[in-house]
Amino acid sequence: MSLFSREVIDSGVAGPHLVITAGVHGDEFEPMQCIHALMDQLPGQLLQGKLTLVPCVNVDAFLSGDRTGADNLDLARICPGDPDGSITMQVGHELTELIKSADYYIDLHTGGTRFSVYPLTGYPLNPDPQALEGSRKMAEAFNLPFIWGTDWRLKGRSMSIACENKVPAIYAEYLGSAQCSQQGVEDYIDGCLNVLGMLGMLQREQPESRVETVVEDASEGSGHMQICHPAPLDGLLTPNYTLGDIVSEGDILGVVRSIDGSQSVELIAGQSGTIIVLHTFSMVREGDATFVIA
Ligand SMILES: [Zn+2]
Repeated sequence: MSLFSREVIDSGVAGPHLVITAGVHGDEFEPMQCIHALMDQLPGQLLQGKLTLVPCVNVDAFLSGDRTGADNLDLARICPGDPDGSITMQVGHELTELIKSADYYIDLHTGGTRFSVYPLTGYPLNPDPQALEGSRKMAEAFNLPFIWGTDWRLKGRSMSIACENKVPAIYAEYLGSAQCSQQGVEDYIDGCLNVLGMLGMLQREQPESRVETVVEDASEGSGHMQICHPAPLDGLLTPNYTLGDIVSEGDILGVVRSIDGSQSVELIAGQSGTIIVLHTFSMVREGDATFVIA
């Protein structure tokens, strides 16, 4: 029995198998609405190949209104999972099998409840040159303003499985903060249609490029969003900058003040660049990522 629903749209003509997933994290909603729109639009439209659409991989997490399900495991850290493990491990196993069946893969995310992310597409800098070239082409076609190539050695993610199996793949991020941005839904629909067009699966005129920045950073740990500028204590975060701002190393990004008010600690930028992730939920726990700079 399948742990998540999927819609398979088969053109009946030989061609690539593209898999698009939403809801690897349960509190990321633009991706789910995007998949629903593609389910409405695409049947009967494909010129070649096969498209598998998954509106919500992590149903347990979605129903909890949370990033993770009841076992508190992060689906994007435990792949390839385990068919005999807890619910998230089982879903991880099923997702892994699906990714392995793909010729191209798109995984749609957002910052969820607590974070906001600058609209971007990312991919691991796959040591396999063909897979890497495929990922780059997909990211360019998807057409969000920021493209981020990162460390391929990160483990447990949907992207790690794609990388190991040499499947050209991208993930996308778009805002978050417990909202569902309609602009985000539309940009995600356009992005997916652009990739389908680029792969020759759909008749589509490619729009003008909106890509502003391409960063490829192969250093170890790059792309790991949860270890950047950790909160020094439990408390309330007041940011001095917002998403997309450009900062220099040494800038004071914000302040975390303890709940009793007795202690304020400044967060100092550890590098120069663009703020691509912001912890928008005011409450932070010690060690939570607050700002990611790329
Ligand atoms: Zn996510």
